[in-house]
Amino acid sequence: MINEEIADIFEKMSRVLAFKGANRFRALAYERAARSLRDLEEDLPEMAREGKLEDIPGIGKDLAGKIQEYIKTKRIRQCDQERRDVPEGLIALMDIPGLGPKTLSLLHEKYQIRDLDDLRRALDTGKLEKLRGFGKKKIDNIQRGINLWLARHQRMPLGIALPLAEKLLDDLNGIKQVERADIAGSLRRRRETIGDIDLLVISTDSPRALREFTKLPSVKQVIGLGDTRATVIIEGGIQVDVRSVARESYGAALQYFTGSKQHNIHLRTLAQKKGLKLNEYGVFRGEKRLGGAREDEVYRLVGVPVMPPELREDHGEIEAAMEGRLPKLVDLPDLRGDLHMHTNYSDGRATIAEMVEGAAALGYDYIALTDHSPSARIANGLDRKRLEAKIEELERVRKQRGERRPRILLGVEVDILADGRLDYPDEIIARCDVVVAAVHSSFRQSRDRMTKRLLDAIANPYVHILAHPLTRLMGSRDAVEFDFERIVEAAVEAGVALEVNAQPLRLDLTDAMARAAQEAGAVLAINTDAHSVAQLELIRYGVSQARRGWIEARSVVNSWPWTKFSRWLGQRRKRKSKAA
Ligand SMILES: [Zn+2]
Ligand SMILES: [Zn+2]
Repeated sequence: MINEEIADIFEKMSRVLAFKGANRFRALAYERAARSLRDLEEDLPEMAREGKLEDIPGIGKDLAGKIQEYIKTKRIRQCDQERRDVPEGLIALMDIPGLGPKTLSLLHEKYQIRDLDDLRRALDTGKLEKLRGFGKKKIDNIQRGINLWLARHQRMPLGIALPLAEKLLDDLNGIKQVERADIAGSLRRRRETIGDIDLLVISTDSPRALREFTKLPSVKQVIGLGDTRATVIIEGGIQVDVRSVARESYGAALQYFTGSKQHNIHLRTLAQKKGLKLNEYGVFRGEKRLGGAREDEVYRLVGVPVMPPELREDHGEIEAAMEGRLPKLVDLPDLRGDLHMHTNYSDGRATIAEMVEGAAALGYDYIALTDHSPSARIANGLDRKRLEAKIEELERVRKQRGERRPRILLGVEVDILADGRLDYPDEIIARCDVVVAAVHSSFRQSRDRMTKRLLDAIANPYVHILAHPLTRLMGSRDAVEFDFERIVEAAVEAGVALEVNAQPLRLDLTDAMARAAQEAGAVLAINTDAHSVAQLELIRYGVSQARRGWIEARSVVNSWPWTKFSRWLGQRRKRKSKAA
């Protein structure tokens, strides 16, 4: 880790020096040193102890001294001083393609541009065009560079990153010199958004394998290529790091690069207490290597049972593992049905029969077709007449399919209106087997009003599931505000399930909220909200979100066998008749 930290400082130094117009060779020396530190296999502190720093390519007496200083004091004074008069926001921008340090220095001087906001404003107002040497082509280049840079520095949704990474993994496995390849990083932990894609490989000929990798058609730009590491930009401006690791270190590297950082710090502390050293190369006692080829072995040596990557956030999983109370996380095969999807009766693309076929292919035992209610006009919500037509067609499909699974349930996604009433009268929703209620309008109500609105919906005895409770859309709509604890309490009391919506831009509830809901005794439903047959496969994102929330199958209504599930559906209605 310290290697990376020092490499970062050196890299920044090279930019700062170039920005200041210092001797070109000084800037280049720092850049070269940074690159060779990143490729380094050994730990810098260890090499410093052995007096071997100057053996590293590009590290002379001066830089060796700076490395020593950082190891001792966690800073390098000369570098701090040099950086002082360069705006931090500009240092970050120096790797925008088409915008090197010299151009930035000029823009800083002429227009006091200090960060990305300033730069974009200058571009928008046409200021830059007035500068000498800033023709249309150069300005277009800068604009494109900014877009690329932004894409790279904004986190992308899991649902975009994972398929890209899986494709890369396939391609990597197709390279002759690659024996094994895995996804690491936050992507392996299935965080809802991802920064870079981290991949690890074992290779018979690492330089060759990495070279082949950089030639893949999806690679748009090669940022760095060494013997053990390649960094590239793929389509969409996403950065991908591939590290080649020795077989005996592979498990340790996979553990290390999966993270999270906090999880690793906790694990390393436990290792130290046992007199062990844990790093990305293995588990060591003194000089002796105890293991590191397999990830579970790494955990075992530290005295912690291995746990699924989704849990590794240092949110109590290490303690739970040591005390033998890790959750039995819900998994894809546990799901027996999908209770939220749309057909072409509302805003879905597929017919009832097509959605049913799609669900059959996934092996589901039951599904609910939940088209929108009338007030969802943009979503083509169903009035009474069209609902009757849908019921008729559903009956026809049921007859045609006979005993074949899945069971087809008549469902509805009924709007929770701004005042808390539902968008269908009770006599209509009473005819539906599965009632999913959701907010689709008036998102900016006060916390109190929104809480009351959701409580009203939960209190309706026909409602089974509160869908996408936060109604957020990542990147475009913030979550609505409500008193989550009260909603959970009411849902537990009423036996209403809270949804974990699998749409990649929703992932709603969040992992932490799902966990809190389960702890409070709530049941959950993991649904796709599919609007096409293909979207039925999004279910895995709902499952990974639930797993990050420590969710067990016992809490997930659509993992229950039909008898238990249908009893749950009927339960609320019974309450209603008792009350009446
Ligand atoms: Zn909805
Ligand atoms: Zn929906």
